[in-house]
Amino acid sequence: MNTRRGFLAAAGGAAAGGSAHAADHDHDHAHQAVPSDPTLRVKALESLLVEKGLVDRAALDALVDTYENKIGPRNGARVVAKAWTDPAYKQRLLTDATSAIAELGYSGNQGENMVVLENTPKVHNLVVCTLCSCYPWPVLGLPPVWYKSAPYRSRSVIDPRGVLKEFGTEVAEDVEVRVWDSTADLRYLVLPERPAGTEKLSEEELTALVTRDSMIGVAKVARA
Ligand code: FE
Repeated sequence: MNTRRGFLAAAGGAAAGGSAHAADHDHDHAHQAVPSDPTLRVKALESLLVEKGLVDRAALDALVDTYENKIGPRNGARVVAKAWTDPAYKQRLLTDATSAIAELGYSGNQGENMVVLENTPKVHNLVVCTLCSCYPWPVLGLPPVWYKSAPYRSRSVIDPRGVLKEFGTEVAEDVEVRVWDSTADLRYLVLPERPAGTEKLSEEELTALVTRDSMIGVAKVARA
């Protein structure tokens, strides 16, 4: 079940089923896992707000859809393509990312304090939030599920090269891998390397090549 609505519905159902099940008998087989605390709290909070007429479910869905699919990583891709084609912009991006990103109209919630990390032939940057799921919404939208998962959050730090390999990304031994831990105050965007053989592409064509994963640092940008 991939949609947010479906996820919350399942969480509510499992929680209700879980407690009824636990209450009516007592035995030792493995029960279905009850969803995490935060999921249940979100569900409860949303139900309450809707019941009191303070929020509208359709409005919430529209808001999530905007960040997940419309704003999404295309904004970040435009930033990257501009940096690849405009050296002065790239310089501004690397010295004051928040302002340079705002030049293109991307700012706001979860993007108030941005830092851009440049990948080079000698350095590969990888972004994680070990504590939770801090992520630069204005340029990348909402984080993918794996970004929020415990294995990614712990293993990116312990074994970044192993994690990169699982994403199909080979980083040569002589390339330094730097892992950056996002916080509530600071969000990172990776500036991936421009692939060779793309010299003739327009900024728009370059934008189309840039993936979300390359801006988190788990992938490189490939030529189309
Ligand atoms: Fe976080």
